[in-house]
Amino acid sequence: MDDYLVRVITEEKNIIGLACITTNLVDHARQRHGTYPTATAALGRALTGGELMGALLDPGQRVALKFTGNGPLRKIIVEAEGDGTVRGYVEVPQVDLPPKDGKLDVGGAIGREGYLTVTKDLRLKDPYNGIVKLYTGEIASDIAFYLTESEQIPSAVGLGVYLEIDGRVSASGGFLVQSLPPADNTLIDALADHIQGMPPVTRQLRDGMTPEDILAGVFEGIPYRTIETRQLSFRCSCSVARIEQALITLGSSQVEDIIRDQKVFDISCHFCNRNYVFPKDHLLRLVREMH
Ligand SMILES: [Zn+2]
Repeated sequence: MDDYLVRVITEEKNIIGLACITTNLVDHARQRHGTYPTATAALGRALTGGELMGALLDPGQRVALKFTGNGPLRKIIVEAEGDGTVRGYVEVPQVDLPPKDGKLDVGGAIGREGYLTVTKDLRLKDPYNGIVKLYTGEIASDIAFYLTESEQIPSAVGLGVYLEIDGRVSASGGFLVQSLPPADNTLIDALADHIQGMPPVTRQLRDGMTPEDILAGVFEGIPYRTIETRQLSFRCSCSVARIEQALITLGSSQVEDIIRDQKVFDISCHFCNRNYVFPKDHLLRLVREMH
């Protein structure tokens, strides 16, 4: 099944529901970054959370999530665009902790002490910034806490990444449910009951259920309609041209120093781990262009 997201709204237009499957893009990120199992689960949940947050934006807008904690992963950064693409990385990919209560210990990897910072580029003059303390470090509850506390939109979030023994991602996805004002508390209680009674997202996906099926469970007995289905993918915006631009910004004397000291310029993109090597003649051409 391809990665995709479904967005629905209740007939009363007071609750939005999103659900997605991200198995392919999370496994792609695992391969690119060489993440160990606990790091894969943490990155996968954050990428999936980013896709859900990104789906609330308009095309051209962007949201970045930064999790920093006192655990061995240190930091996760995810950027999602309003068009269904996402990119992201963990600072320390080689993190694998013993399971906790039979689950991958994502909270232990990130750490219980730390912050979630959300930056939204809405193409206005200044980006919007919100910051909350980590709630559990398990990602889903941290995003729900952020949305409820910082944006004042009561939200429920579920995220899950399931790994095979060999580390491959065989199921990944999530859901996000938001209550729009005016709040209908009876309806919110009913949704909370449905969500609490549901099997974990990874269980549902492994049983062959789709994002549509997950939403059908969340909204059981509540009339709603689908407003959007979108494809999701991992995509990074880095390119040779962008690295050239960064070198040009450094200035010709800095680039001449690189040529003298290092001969080649070698850099990897944090977000996708793609490696760029600029040989001496390429650097010399850039210096000539700068003069
Ligand atoms: Zn990149």
